[in-house]
Amino acid sequence: MPLSSDQQAEIDALRSETRQTLRATVPGMEAHLYKAYPVLDHGFVRVVDYMGDDAAICQAARVSYGKGTKSVQNDEGLIRYLMRHWHSTPFEMCELKLHVKLPVFVARQWIRHRTANVNEYSARYSILDREFYIPAPENLAAQSVVNNQGRGQALTGEEAARVLEYLKADSTRAYDHYAEMISDEGQQGLARELARMNLPANVYTQWYWKVDLHNLLHFLRLRADTHAQYEIRVYAEEICKLVADWVPFAYKAFEDYRLGAVTMSAQMVDCLRRMIAGEEVTEENCGMSKREWREFMGVVG
Ligand SMILES: Cc1cc2nc3c(=O)[nH]c(=O)nc-3n(C[C@H](O)[C@H](O)[C@H](O)COP(=O)(O)OP(=O)(O)OC[C@H]3O[C@@H](n4cnc5c(N)ncnc54)[C@H](O)[C@@H]3O)c2cc1C
Repeated sequence: MPLSSDQQAEIDALRSETRQTLRATVPGMEAHLYKAYPVLDHGFVRVVDYMGDDAAICQAARVSYGKGTKSVQNDEGLIRYLMRHWHSTPFEMCELKLHVKLPVFVARQWIRHRTANVNEYSARYSILDREFYIPAPENLAAQSVVNNQGRGQALTGEEAARVLEYLKADSTRAYDHYAEMISDEGQQGLARELARMNLPANVYTQWYWKVDLHNLLHFLRLRADTHAQYEIRVYAEEICKLVADWVPFAYKAFEDYRLGAVTMSAQMVDCLRRMIAGEEVTEENCGMSKREWREFMGVVG
C-alpha cells in the first residue's frame, strides 16, 4: 500500500475542496489531480499541479491575446504541425508537477533528465520508510544474452526462489541495522545522513518533479520506450496516461511523430528508395554496419 490512511485522508480533503479560477483547467486532468496511482510494489505517481492545456500551446504559437483557438480542428492541426517540425517552444508553455515515490536505483536513471526541477525527501532530516522494491516473479529476469543492457527470460525454480530470498533478507537486514544505528535508545545514535549509506538501492525515495511539456515528452520518449528498463518504464507509462488526458491533441501528435515514429539515416533512406525501385538490397550492398542494417530491417523488414 503506497499511502498511509492519513496521507489518503489529506488527498481526499484536497479533492473535496473546489475553487473558482480564471485559469485554463482541463476536466481530464482535474479528475486525476492529487490522486496517487500505484507503480511497482510501493511506488506511485500523482499530479500535484499543472499549467496550461492544448489551447495554451496554440496560444503561445500564435502569440495571441485571447484563448488562441480559431477552431478545434485548427488547434489540432497546428499542434501536429509544431510537433512534426520540432517547433518545440510552444510546448514549453505547459507545466506538470508530480509527486513520485520510486526506488533509489530508478531515481538515479530519472535524475539524468536535467531539464526538470526536483526536490527530494531528505534522508538527512527524516527517517526512510522500511520499504524496498522486490520484483514480482515475472520481472525477476536473467541477464540478456543478446543485449548487455537488458534482461531475458524470468528466472525459474530454485534459482528464482533463492534470488528472491536474498533480495528480501538483505534489504531487511540492512534496514534493521540502519534503524539500530540511528536509534538514540541507550546510545548516542548515528546521524541519519551517515546511517542511510547502509541502505540498498531498492529502498524507496520520494520527490516533487516539475517539468515543462516539451521536456516531459522527451523524457517519455526515452523512458516509455521498450529499450528503457522495466522499472522506470512503468512510471513513464503511467505518466503517459495522465498526459493523454491533460493535452490530448499534443499527446496524439507525440504518439504519431515521436513514440511510433522512426528516424532514418541518409543510408537507410537511400536503401528504401532502391528497394522501392525494385533493386535487391542486402546486408552486403546496403552500405551500413551490421547493427544498422538489423535496425533498418526491424523497421521495414
Ligand atoms: C535506454 C537508455 C540507456 C541509457 N544508458 C545510459 C548509460 O549506460 N550510462 C549513462 O550515463 N547514461 C545512460 N542513459 C542516460 C542518457 O544518456 C541521458 O543522460 C538521459 O536519457 C537524459 O537525456 P537528456 O540528456 O536528453 O535529457 P535532459 O537532461 O532532460 O536534457 C534534454 C535535452 O536538453 C539538452 N541539454 C540538457 N542539458 C544540457 C547540457 N548541459 N548541455 C547541452 N545540452 C543539454 C539536450 O539537448 C538534451 O537532449 C541511458 C538512457 C536511456 C533512455
